[in-house]
Amino acid sequence: MSEGSEGIDHAVVVGAGVAGLLAARVLAERFARVTVIERDDLPEGAAPAFRAGAPQTRHVHILWSRGVAALDALLPGVVQELAAAGAVRVDAPERMRWLSPADWFTGVRGAFYLSVSRELLETTLRRRVLDRPSITLMDRHEVTGLVPAPGGTAIGGVRLRRRGKDGQESSVRAGTVVVATGRGSRLADWLPGIGCPAPVTERIDAHLGYSSRYYRRPAADPGWQAMYVQGNPGTPRGGVIVPIDGERWLVTLIGQGDHVPPVEEKAWLAFASSLRSPELADALTEAEPLSDVVAFRATANEWTHVERVPRWPRGLLVIGDALCRFNPVYGHGMTVAAVEAQVLAGEIAGYGPGEVAARARRTQRALAACPRAAWAIATGEDTRYPGTDGPVPGRLTRIQQDYMARVLAAANTDPVVAGAFFEVLSLNRRPETLLTPRIAARALRRRR
Ligand SMILES: Cc1cc2nc3c(=O)[nH]c(=O)nc-3n(C[C@H](O)[C@H](O)[C@H](O)COP(=O)(O)OP(=O)(O)OC[C@H]3O[C@@H](n4cnc5c(N)ncnc54)[C@H](O)[C@@H]3O)c2cc1C
Repeated sequence: MSEGSEGIDHAVVVGAGVAGLLAARVLAERFARVTVIERDDLPEGAAPAFRAGAPQTRHVHILWSRGVAALDALLPGVVQELAAAGAVRVDAPERMRWLSPADWFTGVRGAFYLSVSRELLETTLRRRVLDRPSITLMDRHEVTGLVPAPGGTAIGGVRLRRRGKDGQESSVRAGTVVVATGRGSRLADWLPGIGCPAPVTERIDAHLGYSSRYYRRPAADPGWQAMYVQGNPGTPRGGVIVPIDGERWLVTLIGQGDHVPPVEEKAWLAFASSLRSPELADALTEAEPLSDVVAFRATANEWTHVERVPRWPRGLLVIGDALCRFNPVYGHGMTVAAVEAQVLAGEIAGYGPGEVAARARRTQRALAACPRAAWAIATGEDTRYPGTDGPVPGRLTRIQQDYMARVLAAANTDPVVAGAFFEVLSLNRRPETLLTPRIAARALRRRR
């Protein structure tokens, strides 16, 4: 069954996560109608709540300053709204206890991030984006494939199935389709169905596991807002405490390979006590748990290189985690999604719906550049660990890793290096900026 008579001036976004919502907001500038199709049930006006389609939301999610700026540019005033609802701005490392893989950060300034539950962030974004009359949410529908336009060189829409007992199948016509289906994206299966070769996915897996739990934020001020005890190749286990809305702490323990953190309470607390510093476990002894521990394990870095696919169909775009997903410890996925939405806005500015569809390949190439810095940071670090699956680092990579270790060690106490380091970590500047003679001289002066 075909639903509706929408065509070229209708855009469909598949997935109502951060990437999909921001893409819908941008497309609404150029299309008469935008439909966001989401398989989860997202009742209008509902309070922030967990949903099965985004299982990562129960784990620490920070939004670096670059992402905060992008979000506010796309949805003016949204950051203020989030702050009013309990999101916390954390100046890192000034207001954090932060043990890096080298040493504690002390006496240096860095960047800031917004710490907020993913549930509150998404609910706020959803409300702001769906506020526009031209954007409609079609929830409880799972997209099952792409539909080619007659002739086969362009996207004609999507096939979908209603969730629930009847599982009714239908299709929606659209001139442009943006796939924002996240980490579990089925795009590689969908492309051959419309005559496109499946894209190659680059994969580097450090076998990192998360186990997280909510706590009531203690009334007594511990003298810091957040805490991060990082692992290193000698002790590949760490933990992080961040303040979130609802006067809560979200606490995530992190480990690699044989060191993945457990979920059983006693073992989880014992894991917290086994980190490189006892400070995190000490902080938890005074705090009241509000939930059980939950785990997340699928954390590989994966980059689906759709920009290299020959015969890319007119009207198809891929964004967010469906395009590239990172080891989450660096906290970059949402920031990259927000930057991609800004790049999308720039690429389609001034064009009508037909031209937006016709320029899809060019736009996709521009989007493919967005994950580069975050990918370099995550994979550069992950390939240090012997248990990581992926290409073995060559000599050049090892030299870069050694240099980065020196930069990090210097950043612990040198304000100039720390400033440059956090500009890169927050994705405000490119990693190459750490190679300037000024930074190199300060980094190399130090012994590791
Ligand atoms: C454990 C963990 C911790 C993280 N921590 C951070 C962090 O600190 N900071 C940060 O910036 N990023 C973090 N990330 C990354 C972040 O979650 C993502 O990058 C971000 O959510 C953008 O994702 P997205 O919108 O592309 O996908 P998602 O948020 O996963 O949304 C995809 C949406 O598509 C829907 N969907 C999927 N398939 C279909 C279909 N066939 N039909 C209809 N709907 C469909 C899903 O239900 C879901 O709603 C973390 C990730 C993980 C796994």
